[in-house]
Parts: sequence; C-alpha cells; structure tokens
Amino acid sequence: MNLIFLGPPGAGKGTYAKRVIEKYNIPHISTGDIFREAIANKTELGKQVESIVKSGNLVPDELTNALVEERLQKQDCENGFILDGYPRTLNQAQALDAMLQKMHRTLDGAIYFEVDEETVVNRISTRRTCSNCGKVYNIITLPPKVEGVCDDCGGKLIQRDDDKEEIVRSRYEVYIKNTSPLIEYYRNQNKLFTLDGTKGVEEVMKLLFNILGGIEKK
Ligand code: AMP
Repeated sequence: MNLIFLGPPGAGKGTYAKRVIEKYNIPHISTGDIFREAIANKTELGKQVESIVKSGNLVPDELTNALVEERLQKQDCENGFILDGYPRTLNQAQALDAMLQKMHRTLDGAIYFEVDEETVVNRISTRRTCSNCGKVYNIITLPPKVEGVCDDCGGKLIQRDDDKEEIVRSRYEVYIKNTSPLIEYYRNQNKLFTLDGTKGVEEVMKLLFNILGGIEKK
C-alpha cells in the first residue's frame, strides 16, 4: 500500500502513521524525522538544513526529492510505504509521481487530516517529544506515565524548537501557501481521502482503518 499523509503540522500524521505500520508491514517515512536525525547527528545534510528546519521554512525541493527517491529504493518499501510530511509542494508532488512511475508503482491514496489553525497551535504548544527516541506525547491528551520522561526509553521529553507558538504559526502559513494546493492536486487524481483531524485519536483511527480497508479491496 503506497500512501501519503497530508495535513498541517500537528494534525496527528505521525501518530496515525505509527499505528498503521503496526498493522501493515510498511515503513513510516517522515522527512521531518530524517532532517531532525541528521541535525542531531551533525551530518553534512544536518548542517545544510539546520537553520531552515529551526525557522519552520521548507528545505529546498531538489534536496528533499533526492532524499525521498533514495529512501523509496530501499528494500523495506517493497510492500509499500507511508510518506508523512512529503510531498509539501506541488513540485514535490510532481517529482513523487515521476519517481513512482519510474519504479512502475502508483500511489494508492492521499489521506488528508483536516485541522484548523487554532487547534494546531493549541495541540503543538502542549506537544513534547522524546529527545532520545523521538516518541511524541501531549501533556494534556497523551501524557507520559512520569512527567518529563519517555515511557518507552526513559529519555528526556523536550519541546521542539519549531514547536514554539510563533514558529508554529509561521509553519501553518507555510503549509497554507505551499502544501494546501496538494489537496486539489490529489482530488483531481481521485486519490484524496479526507478525515476530520480535530476528532479524538480513536475515532480518527477507526475512520482511517475503514478507508485503508477500502483501498485494500480495490
Ligand atoms: P515535520 O516534522 O514534518 O513538521 O517537519 C519539520 C521541518 O522539516 C519542516 O518545518 C521543514 O523545515 C522540514 N521538512 C520536512 N519535510 C519537508 C519537505 N517535504 N519539504 C521541505 N521541508 C521539509
């Protein structure tokens, strides 16, 4: 199953993707995670993108497209993939279509998690991320068992630099300007499935699995 997860920052794409990959044997590919890991490990890529990511702007298309193309060639993508946070521009969406065509594959669905700006800002300002394993929490709706500590690995929970309110508002603006045109792009390809991302996690999960079940039967 070849899927992309679309929606503004804070829509829950990463959380839902992690649940889906438990059921379907496909990798969760988050370009944001790839960039953050590169920054943490101080690699060449990390140095190149650090100031862009911290400011909430977009990494250039060429660099992002090349990285995704390389990742999709890996063997674990044989049964499919979930792309989370990619594509984020029309150029990236067209590049992805071209990549898939070259690989004789097609996209099965673009799942769009619809969430308004105020919900995004409220959610992200209470989001905490494990500095060690990257697991995401919310201090109100999804708190860890012990405050400030990751349930899975004991790592310290921190607020991402780009999760501060001012940066979140500018990331939302970047999303509206650059990424929201993709909704029309995938609607025109008859690949768009829209979910109300303001609903609770379990309700969205149920709707999402219904959609995926429908895609599987096709
Ligand atoms: P995310 O975790 O998806 O919100 O991504 C965090 C940051 O990584 C974004 O604000 C961008 O700076 C960068 N980034 C992630 N994915 C992309 C992409 N597809 N194109 C350009 N920049 C990206």
